[in-house]
Amino acid sequence: MEKKEQLYEGKAKKVYATEDPNLVIVSYKDDATAFDGAKKGTIVGKGVINNQMTNRLMAKMEKAGIPTHFVKELSERDTLVKKVSIVPLEVIIRNISAGHFASRYGVEEGIVFSEPTIEFSYKNDDLHDPLMNAYHAVALKLATWEEIELIKKYAFAVNDTLKAFWSECGVTLVDFKLEFGKTVDGQIVLADEISPDTCRLWDSKTNEKLDKDRFRRDLGGVEDAYAEVMKRLMAHDAQ
Ligand code: ADP
Ligand code: UDP
Repeated sequence: MEKKEQLYEGKAKKVYATEDPNLVIVSYKDDATAFDGAKKGTIVGKGVINNQMTNRLMAKMEKAGIPTHFVKELSERDTLVKKVSIVPLEVIIRNISAGHFASRYGVEEGIVFSEPTIEFSYKNDDLHDPLMNAYHAVALKLATWEEIELIKKYAFAVNDTLKAFWSECGVTLVDFKLEFGKTVDGQIVLADEISPDTCRLWDSKTNEKLDKDRFRRDLGGVEDAYAEVMKRLMAHDAQ
């Protein structure tokens, strides 16, 4: 399957049409942004890692019964996926306080919750992705109640599987963002990516950050952190 016209260029990926109207190719870039695009940079090799990591994790989600957009890895940076119309909600699951949760509520990072939380942000760059509750999403017809319930069910199921997997790799899953889409035949599937760009991952022993917070907060060792989590994933899968 070959890339045809570019349909979209985002901050971290490009999306291309293919000869099949139901399939698109996502191509992962090394570009990194943070703070609503205010901070820009490059994380060398990130595109390759995020592509390969996402695909391996998507396969694990499928195995756990969560439908995804994944079809086939085409190359280091390119993957064939089902074309979906993205539900414009960023679905955020948190197991431990960090990032905006900590700043919004004036608490420290690292509070371990007794159960995971879920929240939605309206995926809209012009409005800076404001928080949105399910009633507002339904009122704006971004999704139906049935779709919201399914998305919640899938998001918590992703958390269960992902948390258990990363734990086996010596990595603590702090929080993450998911996107869901609707396929041409109306099925809700997990789309976009699951990577150190979209998850907070801490070393289980030291709590060292192994994710995009190293870039956001200028902690250094960004490339090494991405490589480290990928190495642990590969080592786990090779067992
Ligand atoms: P952003 O749009 O936030 O800058 P990216 O650079 O990651 O993000 O761009 C990828 C875009 O592709 C995102 O807008 C995402 O919602 C969208 N996308 C992800 N998976 C699919 C899919 N299966 N079909 C169509 N669009 C998708
Ligand atoms: N996240 C993301 N894209 C966004 C916003 C958040 O992938 O546009 C991820 C982020 O990497 C973290 C989780 O969602 O793993 C929760 O992010 P938070 O709300 O704390 O905001 P942040 O501090 O990351 O801006």
